[in-house]
Amino acid sequence: MAPSVAVVGGGISGLAACYHLTRGPHPPKVLLLEASARLGGWLQSTRAADGAVFEHGPRGIRPGGTAGADTLHMVSELGLAGAVLPVPGDHPASRNRFLYVAGALHKLPSGLGALLRPVPPFSRALLWSGLRDLLAPAGTEPDESIHAFARRRFGREVADIAVDSVCRGVFAGDCRALSVRSCFPLLFQAERSRRSVLLGLALGSAERGGGDTHGSGAESGLSRRARAERWSQWSLRGGMETLPEALAEFLRERGVELRCHQRLRRLSRRHDGRWELTLADGTVTADHVVSAVPAAALAEALPAEAAALAQELRRIPAVSVAVVNLQYEGVALPVTGFGHLVPSSEDGSLLGIVYDSVAFPEHNGAATASLRLTVMLGGAWFEQSFGDPATAAPELLLHRAQAAVREQLGLEPAPTRSIVRVHQACIPQYTLGHWQRTERIGRFLAEHRLPLSLIGASYSGVSVNDCIASAKAAVERLLGPQH
Ligand SMILES: Cc1cc2nc3c(=O)[nH]c(=O)nc-3n(C[C@H](O)[C@H](O)[C@H](O)COP(=O)(O)OP(=O)(O)OC[C@H]3O[C@@H](n4cnc5c(N)ncnc54)[C@H](O)[C@@H]3O)c2cc1C
Repeated sequence: MAPSVAVVGGGISGLAACYHLTRGPHPPKVLLLEASARLGGWLQSTRAADGAVFEHGPRGIRPGGTAGADTLHMVSELGLAGAVLPVPGDHPASRNRFLYVAGALHKLPSGLGALLRPVPPFSRALLWSGLRDLLAPAGTEPDESIHAFARRRFGREVADIAVDSVCRGVFAGDCRALSVRSCFPLLFQAERSRRSVLLGLALGSAERGGGDTHGSGAESGLSRRARAERWSQWSLRGGMETLPEALAEFLRERGVELRCHQRLRRLSRRHDGRWELTLADGTVTADHVVSAVPAAALAEALPAEAAALAQELRRIPAVSVAVVNLQYEGVALPVTGFGHLVPSSEDGSLLGIVYDSVAFPEHNGAATASLRLTVMLGGAWFEQSFGDPATAAPELLLHRAQAAVREQLGLEPAPTRSIVRVHQACIPQYTLGHWQRTERIGRFLAEHRLPLSLIGASYSGVSVNDCIASAKAAVERLLGPQH
């Protein structure tokens, strides 16, 4: 009888694991268990009757590197190539990103001119930060906060303004608590191998033939187009939720059993070595379990003999984000680009504003001239700004988002449409020493020979690409490379 695999968690990681599990010539029997009523996890899109699309989770996926190419390959295999909405390299949403500092919007510097002379909000030409990086000795600590690393290599201003903002944009997190080794492994390795981040990145890129991250990934027509047109990101015509929907359809056709409303309560080993999974209304057994739930959720289900593992898993925290989608009619942005980020020194509660209709005007629907924005609030500053995310009032969050749009973009009219979502513990935080936690987790699994794979955003990358890559890698460890 074919071995059976239970995949727990129906977000993009769990769905991608099922996809890779069923691609080989002798696929195991696969069962997916999802606690909520729907599949997709944080990939959530609202499709309005007039064709407008509002993203409540991820809104753009990067095409670069191995993981980016592999995701595009999967998208092609799912028959979604025609639904891809690319943002080419010469598009304003690729070229223009802004920071809101000291009450004004500033375009993030690009080009030689910006390197040679001071460009606000920076008081010195960025050339000096580059020279500092080329001359400073390499760090020796096994890990360091992103802020300390950036300050040491590029100076305080770059750390306080640019790096602080980027960490809020990517992780909704505080760069003084996040680990450079785990959040930006390429930068950490670049310094270790070449003594300079810039030199390490440049030489690494040259060695990889100019690619922006290591490796090349599976080739597809989409990845070739992405390279030729220098896409900065892409979405899907029906919104990001199209991806889990297409995966679910693909998996059902291949006989994968997809069960919603099935929260894993308890995971225990039987005498014969198989797993027993206790659900709300019964049990199932499996030879192998792939956990695609957040680390803290897995910790709750583990048996007493895995207490040491549960303890490590609980040490991986996550922050909450309020996502406020706004639509306006008859107004224009003061600038055009991807959006702007706000450093924590300016306003902790407001992470940034994405100008969705610039990157993806196709999502405006019938109201082609409307402006769609997403205001991101909270993150590592959620509790201090808005209190308990479980009880934060949507009206308060909407009010805060509208005030930010008025102050920072000068848009006075009220939005014609608004949606407020509070995502509790939605982005894991790789804090200082995360690499040691993941090593101890790996050691526990190996020493106890547990037929358990851990995948998803809690461990080795939070982007959609990282999650899919973690699923692929786990399946390859279990079954060998699948084609
Ligand atoms: C607001 C926001 C914006 C983002 N923007 C981007 C972006 O633009 N680009 C990008 O690449 N990434 C972005 N990300 C990151 C990315 O979307 C996530 O890291 C990724 O979707 C996480 O997927 P996952 O499957 O690992 O986890 P999840 O999506 O959290 O899925 C886990 C699933 O497990 C289920 N579950 C939990 N407990 C149990 C249990 N006990 N039993 C059974 N099921 C359980 C949950 O219901 C959920 O469906 C964003 C994330 C957020 C929150």
